[in-house]
Amino acid sequence: MLSTAYTRATQGIDAPLVSVETHLSNGLPAFHIVGLPEAAVRESRDRVRAAIISSQFEFPMTRITVNLAPADLPKTGGYYDLSIAVGILSASSQLPAAELESYELVGELGLNGELRGERGVLPIALAAKRAGRALIVPESALAEACLVKGLTVYGARHLSQVCAHLCGMERLQMGEVERRVEAPTLPDLGDVRGQSQAKRALEVAAAGGHHLLMVGPPGTGKTMLASRLPSLLPAMSDGEATSTAAVQSISRQGFNVKNWAIRPFRAPHHTVSGVALVGGGTVPMPGEISLAHGGVLFLDEFTEFARTTLEVLREPIETGRVTISRAARQACFPARFQLVAAMNPCPCGYRGDPKRACRCTPDQVDRYRAKISGPLLDRIDMHIEVPRLSEAEIMGKAPLGENSASVAARVSRARTFQQRRQRCSNAHLDSNQVEAFCALDEKGQSLIQQAMSRLGLSVRAYHRVLKVARTLADLSGSDAIRSSDVAEALSFRQP
Ligand SMILES: [Zn+2]
Repeated sequence: MLSTAYTRATQGIDAPLVSVETHLSNGLPAFHIVGLPEAAVRESRDRVRAAIISSQFEFPMTRITVNLAPADLPKTGGYYDLSIAVGILSASSQLPAAELESYELVGELGLNGELRGERGVLPIALAAKRAGRALIVPESALAEACLVKGLTVYGARHLSQVCAHLCGMERLQMGEVERRVEAPTLPDLGDVRGQSQAKRALEVAAAGGHHLLMVGPPGTGKTMLASRLPSLLPAMSDGEATSTAAVQSISRQGFNVKNWAIRPFRAPHHTVSGVALVGGGTVPMPGEISLAHGGVLFLDEFTEFARTTLEVLREPIETGRVTISRAARQACFPARFQLVAAMNPCPCGYRGDPKRACRCTPDQVDRYRAKISGPLLDRIDMHIEVPRLSEAEIMGKAPLGENSASVAARVSRARTFQQRRQRCSNAHLDSNQVEAFCALDEKGQSLIQQAMSRLGLSVRAYHRVLKVARTLADLSGSDAIRSSDVAEALSFRQP
């Protein structure tokens, strides 16, 4: 007497298939779960037994062996309960075994047979859809599973409802795709007075997907500017929205379906631990950089972060993903974020300020700047100064700027050019593509060569300047990069 039910494990943001094979044989009553399950899975034995009895079914008084295959897949959590219970009921002929072929089941069981759990359902739903099976989830997870278009998904509150459905007695309600349709309300660039160069830099960063470093004294609105970046970025495609939601779904706080297709803005404090920033833990969890996937990662007081923590950012900045290795297992999470970093120009904050004198020695300034390594700085495409506001600006006399919607329209046009030309944003061009798409005329060449020797730019930084120049040309609808684009791109490379 054998039955097979299907469920899924989570591994990074993948959800590999787990076959739950249940075998009943004569012998002294016993209940074993094999397939290297961890302690949490062993506990599910007690929950499954109690839930089956509470649901008015018979718990078979024979030798029960449940095998979760493949055995070498690490398994945690209680999501296997439902498939184990259904497998036992099917192997003991209390449910039709043939039905199980076309379903995948996830959910933790309470002792009374109630179904629970919602975290991490989205990656499972995506995988079930690819496998062409219907999915049964706890009702609390139904809204999230419904975000996957083309998946047949049912929500249930109780084990007995799942059984009634599989017997064809009373079908479960099918979930319907309900996605937020109205545009989200985001902080608007129009609220920011003055700072026209910084606003221009934000537009360029948005248009090409460039990382941005803002250097300026405290109180000049660096945080306010950074928080406006999401409102300038183009609407998310279905694929982008799905991968952003999937990585949040497996995080500790889970995914809120209200945030569907909203680009995240994450601003972790500088005291954040390395694990919280990049991800980790015994069961690897995504960190802030992955929660910012598809959106903006804002690091204020950039120099105050632990240097070792910041250096770990080099890999994801380059590759858009982060690999976390722990003794027993490895996990890979997407981390394609746009970095906006902000720092003071010196320890006291007033270097270059026309009104207040800086008391720092050149030595102190050097030490302060050296907290951010050269290789990390090289990877940030644009470095700008955000100076103190003029009196008129502080008094609110400066005109308010353009609002986000009209800037976003230009950004969107520039992004369309990039997609047509190279199928990615300018920030993600590799070095061969830079050669191909960022050619300069003679005047542009000589401009950049002078700057390279004057600023001591590395090859990596040189490529970044070219990419920013490419974005400037795209913003003005020009096929060729003009020398004025090169000059402006260099102005976004303040030493
Ligand atoms: Zn100072």
